[in-house]
Amino acid sequence: MATFEIPTEQWAQVVEATGGPAIYKKIPVQQPGPDEVLINVKYSGVCHTDLHAMMGDWPLDVKLPLVGGHEGAGVVVAKGSLVKDIELGDLAGIKWLNGSCLACSFCMTSDEPLCANALLSGYTVDGSFQQYAIAKAAHVAHIPKGTRLDEVAPVLCAGITVYKGLKESGARPGQWVAIVGAGGGLGSMALQYAKAMGLNTIAIDGGEEKAVSCQALGAKAYVDFLSSKDLVAEVKAATPDGTGPHAVILLAVQEKPFQQATEYVRSRGTVICIGLPAKAYLKAPVFDTVVRMITIKGSYVGNRQDTQEALDFFSQGLIKVPFKTVGLSELQDVFELMKAGKIVGRYVVDTSK
Ligand code: NAD
Ligand code: ZN
Ligand code: ZN
Repeated sequence: MATFEIPTEQWAQVVEATGGPAIYKKIPVQQPGPDEVLINVKYSGVCHTDLHAMMGDWPLDVKLPLVGGHEGAGVVVAKGSLVKDIELGDLAGIKWLNGSCLACSFCMTSDEPLCANALLSGYTVDGSFQQYAIAKAAHVAHIPKGTRLDEVAPVLCAGITVYKGLKESGARPGQWVAIVGAGGGLGSMALQYAKAMGLNTIAIDGGEEKAVSCQALGAKAYVDFLSSKDLVAEVKAATPDGTGPHAVILLAVQEKPFQQATEYVRSRGTVICIGLPAKAYLKAPVFDTVVRMITIKGSYVGNRQDTQEALDFFSQGLIKVPFKTVGLSELQDVFELMKAGKIVGRYVVDTSK
């Protein structure tokens, strides 16, 4: 078995107060407990959730001080005495779901994201914006040997989440799905997973740069929410019979598209809510929802099986999403771009810089 030299101190990005900023500084390296592994994180994707966590956007208490991050790809360098199914030197991923009780009725029925005692990476426990991060061994993603860790990192939240959302939508090969927020991190992944699943996509986002990216990722149509005079009509017109998409995957970080989706989804269609804009509410006309038999659902990350399936799509070369790599020290700059809605695809931070 491989052995690793583990330092006592490491570089990390630490949020010390709600509202930020993230501060690049040295902190101690923790030891894994009996059922945990210590992962030397090489790259971590930056998810909009990390920004929500820093800004205190949600009605869920966040740990402070906080090391954010939950798309961490790295190498297992230490493990607790109870850990049998992963070896030192294996590649592994830190996901949003850092751990769960594995004994409640949700965990027993593979709905572990719904566990009341779930531990959330980069939210209720420290996450992957550090060089050495801890996770429960039962929950880490198993990444095949030889995988590029910068490229796979965004699969660990964005990929799993949109893959699960597409499954929850019930959309079948050949059907049409609108991806709202298609140019962002989750959206870019959603276009690729949908394509791999045989679905036709209508991308909705703002600006020319995102249009070009969405089309390159396989979108059959692009509707620009910033310039469209009648978004509802344009989305419906993008489907071959003009009746609208079978499903809508809402990934945007604004409330308005959540109010609009039932206007263009096809009758009997399904609206999947994934994006988590601050203080937002869903609104839909009761009459239309009833007489057009519309389903509205939430979808929250994925379970361990969804994780391995999402990674399998990636390993088969089906998921290629644009990403830019910067040093961990530059995380706050990434947050600024994210606030301005300027990110196409994903930013990945390299923990060695
Ligand atoms: P991102 O910032 O990369 O992308 C968001 C995209 O939405 C941007 O491209 C932006 O231009 C676009 N957008 C904004 N307003 C829009 C509008 N009115 N219409 C269409 N597009 C619009 O963010 P991300 O990392 O992809 O995360 C998206 C959201 O998903 C966040 O709220 C995040 O917290 C949430 N999320 C949820 C889960 C879950 O399990 N449910 C998991 C991960 C992330
Ligand atoms: Zn995320
Ligand atoms: Zn549980």
